[in-house]
Amino acid sequence: MPENPTLPRFAVLQLSGCAGCEVALINASEWIDQYQLVYMPLVVSTHTVPEDTEILLVSGGVRNDEDVYNLRRAAEIVDQVVAVGTCAISGGVANLGDRDDVRAMFLSQENRYHLPHLLPKSRPIDSFVDVDLYLPGCPPTPELFMGALTGPEQFEASSIVCIECGRKKLKDMRPTHLVGFQQGQVLPEICLINQGYLCVGSSVRGGCRALCTRPGHPCVGCRGPSNAYIEKESQVWFDRVQTAFERLTDIPHDEIEKALHSPQLSLFLFQFPDYMNGERKPRPKEKVL
Ligand code: SF4
Ligand code: SF4
Repeated sequence: MPENPTLPRFAVLQLSGCAGCEVALINASEWIDQYQLVYMPLVVSTHTVPEDTEILLVSGGVRNDEDVYNLRRAAEIVDQVVAVGTCAISGGVANLGDRDDVRAMFLSQENRYHLPHLLPKSRPIDSFVDVDLYLPGCPPTPELFMGALTGPEQFEASSIVCIECGRKKLKDMRPTHLVGFQQGQVLPEICLINQGYLCVGSSVRGGCRALCTRPGHPCVGCRGPSNAYIEKESQVWFDRVQTAFERLTDIPHDEIEKALHSPQLSLFLFQFPDYMNGERKPRPKEKVL
């Protein structure tokens, strides 16, 4: 990529994650003529984040001591830190190791391969550095990346996914049980809740243009809670999802409750239930794209 010193300079720091956010950024072409990418190990071979970097996009959660070092060092240099994607904001795939034998497997390999030391628990990046902007999504779409780079004031999003989805909610089509994931025939234009699918789009922030629900896949909430719930405890978000199902279905409360805690949704809903337990202040909605 040719150097253009007149363009704003941004870097992408990848911590513990899956590189999906980086691929989404590479899929966007709009930024190519407007920003200079100066650091991103996946595509730009520079050893560290350069001193004159203005914007730092951070993807991935903080899972080991190397993540902590790289994050703190880079955040000191730049003008603005943007937390990108589910892993940087609430754990994501990096957090899965807290719950199963992944951690034990990693530790058993640690000395053999001289891997970085695991932290006791996966953390979001704002446990270590100040964050100027949060960009939720798994991964954020190219359009959302552009919104983060150009500034939230340039980006227009609906308050919830339902508005961008546009499927009709019907009062007289009331399923009595949930349909499993990837089962059944999805009717076009009718709300997925009416069809018995566990869609949480009614309380999830817009901006993704309902990427999943328009073609028929239930929203699993990767954009996180809408502004109405983002500064409240997780239970308020859970309750809101239940209310949407009570209005449109006759599915038992317990069945919804169990499904909300299923592995399919665990990546995005309430990964850090201790988040609001006095550990730190809630993320202000003004800072979330
Ligand atoms: S609940 Fe899901 S399917 Fe229904 S309108 Fe909202 S986003 Fe679309
Ligand atoms: S529809 Fe839901 S799961 Fe899909 S991209 Fe949007 S917020 Fe994420």
